[in-house]
Amino acid sequence: PNTTSTTLPKPRLDYRAISENVVYKSHNAFNRKAPLPVGAIQSIERLYTQQKELSRTLNEKRHAQSVIGDRIRQAGNDEEARRDALQHAKELKLIVSQLEHDLAQVDDKLFSLSSAVPNDTHPLAPLGPESAAVVLSTHGPDPLPPSPLRDHVSICRDLGLLDLEAGAIVTGSSWYYLLHEAAILEMALTNYGLSIALNHGFTPVTTPDVVRSDVARRCGFQPRDNADPPVAQMYHLSATDAPSTSHPELVLSGTAEIPLAGMFANKILPLADLPLKVVGLGRAFRAEAGARGTETRGLYRVHQFTKLELARRLMEEMQRVQVEIFSGLGFPFRVLDMPSEELGASAYRKYDIEAWMPGRGSWGEISSLSNCTDYQARRLHIRHRPVPLSSHYASPLPVSTSLPFAHTLNGTAVAVPRLIVALLENGARFNDSGQVVGINLPVALKPFWPQASSREVV
Ligand code: AMP
Repeated sequence: PNTTSTTLPKPRLDYRAISENVVYKSHNAFNRKAPLPVGAIQSIERLYTQQKELSRTLNEKRHAQSVIGDRIRQAGNDEEARRDALQHAKELKLIVSQLEHDLAQVDDKLFSLSSAVPNDTHPLAPLGPESAAVVLSTHGPDPLPPSPLRDHVSICRDLGLLDLEAGAIVTGSSWYYLLHEAAILEMALTNYGLSIALNHGFTPVTTPDVVRSDVARRCGFQPRDNADPPVAQMYHLSATDAPSTSHPELVLSGTAEIPLAGMFANKILPLADLPLKVVGLGRAFRAEAGARGTETRGLYRVHQFTKLELARRLMEEMQRVQVEIFSGLGFPFRVLDMPSEELGASAYRKYDIEAWMPGRGSWGEISSLSNCTDYQARRLHIRHRPVPLSSHYASPLPVSTSLPFAHTLNGTAVAVPRLIVALLENGARFNDSGQVVGINLPVALKPFWPQASSREVV
């Protein structure tokens, strides 16, 4: 580590880039449905100009303060000159403290407005809501016809794989117990995904599932949304009334993306170590406020799930790893280029993967891959040493004190519950009277299936 401090410096937001691209940034925020007050980008431009002017005036006045000491000394016995200089020093002190106060206010407003400005959007990303997503590729066998017989909730009930009632009693609705093969599937799927990630050179990591809400925010997650009153999107652990540096506000992480990106906070990454590739296993916790109806049935939308997450690597290469993982599972799936309103605060481009779920009679999202460019790195202070000069390059690089920010990418390798939904709904075997008698599981999971388990993996 480059530092031992546990508190992160203030995010380095790019006010200049916002101020110089007011039209683009305003359209972009609109296209992404970002929760920004009307006219926020124009206010940022105005505040940035004010900030620069105030800083310049403040520097001039501070410089004047530094020379006034000389004037006082030079005045010697000249009482009048001395009095003038002292008076001037007194006035300067007042002016400086007023300027400092004004600048701090402008800084605060500028920072808070700019924090809500989303990342830019890749020029090829579709614009609009979820329905504007573009299918980039389709994989696996032909989709089975929709059939209520294949509904994962009834398959689970018939085969005794899921206990939602116990989950409801012990914790609440949408909490669950996986039993028998479903419990084994959780471990087999994670180890299967992990083995593919390791083959591609990812370093395995287990992550803390509890994170500071400040770190979540720096990654582009709002622990509470902007509704009035704000709705918690994450589970809060400590009293939020009086968080302090010794007792920071803590939340249950919604995704290992947060602790994985946070792992590199405040670090300067040597070029030789890039790109860093890590695969993190964690539990994801989602408050899922507002989710209802069929979406929340069974395992599709739950409050806690095990997730294996890939971080760092070029987007297309990460997608190849994901496609390899899902191809081995034998169900139909497709890759989507997600439109602007689905990009959240941090993603520059996002590819989702959907599996065909014949019991639900629809495609369901099983994985997501985001390129966050420098959005998270600016907030987490993840920097890297610039590319060294190649020997044939004549002129030296300009000396720069600020190191460039690294880019962060993250993608789901395995999010257990929805993979179980896809495996059960596509793999269920029925007898002649339409009763489910077993599940065909992909042979790729065989090496990860315990010998002692009763059910065959075919
Ligand atoms: P996200 O981090 O929201 O992009 O989600 C990544 C993946 O986690 C999704 O593609 C789903 O497979 C899975 N997922 C997200 N939310 C839930 C949930 N509430 N219950 C079950 N799986 C989920």
